[in-house]
Amino acid sequence: MVDEYTRQALASMPKCELHLHIEGTLEPQLALTLAERNGVALPWTNIDELKAQYEFEDLQSFLNLYYALMKTLKTEEDFKDLMLAYLTRANANGVRHAEIFFDPQVHVCTNGLGFNTVLDGLLEGMAIGRERFGITGGLILSIVRDMDIDSANMILDLAQPRKAEILGIGLDSAEVGHPPARFVDQFARARRFGWHCVAHAGEEGPAAYIRDALDLLHAERIDHGIHIQDDTELLERVARDGVPLTCCPLSNLRLQVVHDMREHPIPRFLDEGVMCTINSDDPAYFGGYVAANYTALVSIGMSMETLAALAGNSIDASFAPEARKTQLHAELATWRTRHGL
Ligand SMILES: [Zn+2]
Repeated sequence: MVDEYTRQALASMPKCELHLHIEGTLEPQLALTLAERNGVALPWTNIDELKAQYEFEDLQSFLNLYYALMKTLKTEEDFKDLMLAYLTRANANGVRHAEIFFDPQVHVCTNGLGFNTVLDGLLEGMAIGRERFGITGGLILSIVRDMDIDSANMILDLAQPRKAEILGIGLDSAEVGHPPARFVDQFARARRFGWHCVAHAGEEGPAAYIRDALDLLHAERIDHGIHIQDDTELLERVARDGVPLTCCPLSNLRLQVVHDMREHPIPRFLDEGVMCTINSDDPAYFGGYVAANYTALVSIGMSMETLAALAGNSIDASFAPEARKTQLHAELATWRTRHGL
């Protein structure tokens, strides 16, 4: 059991969130509200019925619900509301800077919305969040790896005129059978846009996908990267080169990537010198926002000192300007003093 003092201390600890899918913050209640607002028929009519759908066997069973609920997002206002709901919770979780994934291929190519509707709504929400809570950050356009490659190219065409408003490119969704090698051209194009590059790799897929994300896609961070534990040479390389991993403990547990939090490789990664960060991935689906992910590590014996170091990693691994990083490290130092660390 984690005591209330520790829980509150971790919720107030200044941190960055670097692995967060905005669509994964769609809480069941907001999904039902949006479904009603937009006249979208869902198979579940009340909150209890919907909540009963949240027991997942694997990544695919989660994605099935995820994509079903995404259909409730229709208007610029919906995306603004979604972003603000997340930033309100992020603020209560000590998040000071957030680099947030969005999946425009699904909204545009599958659900028929305009690219600018999605982007304008999300940016509007971020602008309000910045003013209201002081949370800085940016959007990372995520390529949905199991969708048609033409749809990825179309999204990049639509994003090009607005490239200055987007921070980077990512790669997400069902991993196995959709290796990084397929997306070399899209990532090369994103680099020409001046975007940062990150990619999900080694969540359910093999360590080889992590190597390919680094070598072929020039990923600056690896999202998840759990299966790096199967490749000692790659683990040493990632540690030596300071490549950050954006780990998501509650997501890994919920999707049964690990079967018990005590089996999570984060402590081993830290021992090996890997720059791990802690994040919430799809918190509406996985039972907790980012502070709960830190708390989960207390329950396996991780010290507050290590957790504060992980928050420090999240600042260093972010794409925030140096001046902002300095500011955030100062906030973290103040927090440490207050908590006797
Ligand atoms: Zn993810």
